Order: sequence, then C-alpha cells, then structure tokens
Amino acid sequence: MLTRILFNQYKTLRRIVFPPKCLVCSRFFHPPDSNAGDEARNAGGPTDPAPLSLQSQAAGLLSVCLCQACIRRLVVVESPICDCCGLPINGRQGADHRCGECIREPKDYRIARAPLIYEPILTRVIHCFKYQGKVQLAKPLAELLLTAFRLFWEPDSIDIILPVPLHIKRFRIRGFNQAYLLVCNWNILAAHFAYRPVQLQIERNLLIRTAATVPQSALGRAERTVNIKNAFDLNRPDKVKDKRILLIDDVYTTGATVNECARLLLNCGARHVDVLTLARAV
Ligand SMILES: [Zn+2]
Ligand SMILES: [Zn+2]
Repeated sequence: MLTRILFNQYKTLRRIVFPPKCLVCSRFFHPPDSNAGDEARNAGGPTDPAPLSLQSQAAGLLSVCLCQACIRRLVVVESPICDCCGLPINGRQGADHRCGECIREPKDYRIARAPLIYEPILTRVIHCFKYQGKVQLAKPLAELLLTAFRLFWEPDSIDIILPVPLHIKRFRIRGFNQAYLLVCNWNILAAHFAYRPVQLQIERNLLIRTAATVPQSALGRAERTVNIKNAFDLNRPDKVKDKRILLIDDVYTTGATVNECARLLLNCGARHVDVLTLARAV
C-alpha cells in the first residue's frame, strides 16, 4: 500500500519536473491524471449501459502523448456516412446512404469503417507511429481501434481478423507492421476492459504481400488500383473458406489496397470481408 502511494507520488512529481512533449506541436504539456480515459474506455461494457463515445475515448487515450489543444483538433467520423465505404457525407442531414463512387464502382468488401478523419493532426500522429518508431502510440491507437470495432461490429460477427501485410522488404526496413501492432493485443485489452469474453482470431501470417509495390501514397487514385493488383496472396487459402473476415489497416485513402485484399479473399471462398482502419481520408 505504502509502495503504491509512494509510486503514485513519484509519477506525479516526475510529470511536474519532466512534462512530456506533444508529439504534434512539440510543446511541453501536463497530461491529465493517468486514469484519464478509463471512464470512456469502460463505457458500453456489459455492466455499463452508457454508449461508447469515440470523441471522449480518443481524447482520453491520446492525452498521454498529445496536448489538449491538438486533441481538440482531432475529428471523429460521424453520420451521415456512405453505408459501404464509410465516407462522411458533408453538409447533409439524414441517414447513411450509398455514395456516388460506391454506386459507380461497387466494392468487393462489404463495409469499411474508421473512427477518425485523416486530418493534419492525425496524419502527424500516424507518421510518428509508422516512420519515427514511436511504438508507444501502438497501445492507445489499438484501444481506440478496438472501441471502433465494438461500436460497429458484434464481436461474434467476425471469424478472422487480418492485418494488411507489408512486403517483407519494407517490413525489414520498418521493423514492424503497423496494422498488426494496432490489433495484436486486442484480446488482452478486451479482457481488461470487461468486453464480452470472445476470443478474436487474429492471423498475422495468413495474408501475405508478394509484390514489393511502389508506396500507394506516391500515386493517384487510378494508379493505386493498378499498382496493388495481384500484390497479395494467402498462405492457407482453405482457412478463409466461408469465413467472415475483418481487415485492419492504419489509413483508408482510396480503398484500393483493402479492396484488392477483399477481392483475393472472396476468390478464395470468404463469406464476406469488412474493413476497419484508424483513419479515413476525405
Ligand atoms: Zn500539441
Ligand atoms: Zn462509398
């Protein structure tokens, strides 16, 4: 008991003497109490009927690495959205409905959802995570993504979760696959937050990237589809037969990458493929 009190005092003192620096604006800031976010985190669990709020969840989780001014500039995806690709439909009221692009070019996946808009603050956060090795962001971002999963899916409505893979060459350079880091601890997090005790089957090596493609970010919309065509394969195609799949990635830009994965999975007999990303470009 005494050790715990002393440890908490040490943590408080350390925060005062060495305040963290905001990852986005580089200003020093005083993070709120380390229990921030617990309230939002546990909301919606089996013992708490309060609805989950992505806004409060994002603010609570990211308050350890972003200042409040930057947190306030994060933008949550809100209805009305395209009921297929999840694109926010600007300046309109009313229910979710199909966007023009999904009508013109129907997707292979069933639905794609994301908790946050890919605006400059989140772009910076994801950049720090992916390219500057700030892997301490993996935990809060994974929790945020799990919250989005809880909002949009019933846990027993998905059989297999697949992170979108990197090619082995890029994996060796980066040292980790950001999509896998966003999902690898979901079962531990879910148990910790009293989420319904469903063991989610997360397969790291089932979906593989066989082609070392040019980074999609360097290409336009039409080029992305061509660039990513036939870039993936399955180690064990029999494993996806008649399965309901959820693909995980960090950012949904044009959807070319996840749609190519979905096309392959459906060709191998998957029942349907859904997509969850941290960020949605608009
Ligand atoms: Zn800041
Ligand atoms: Zn759409």
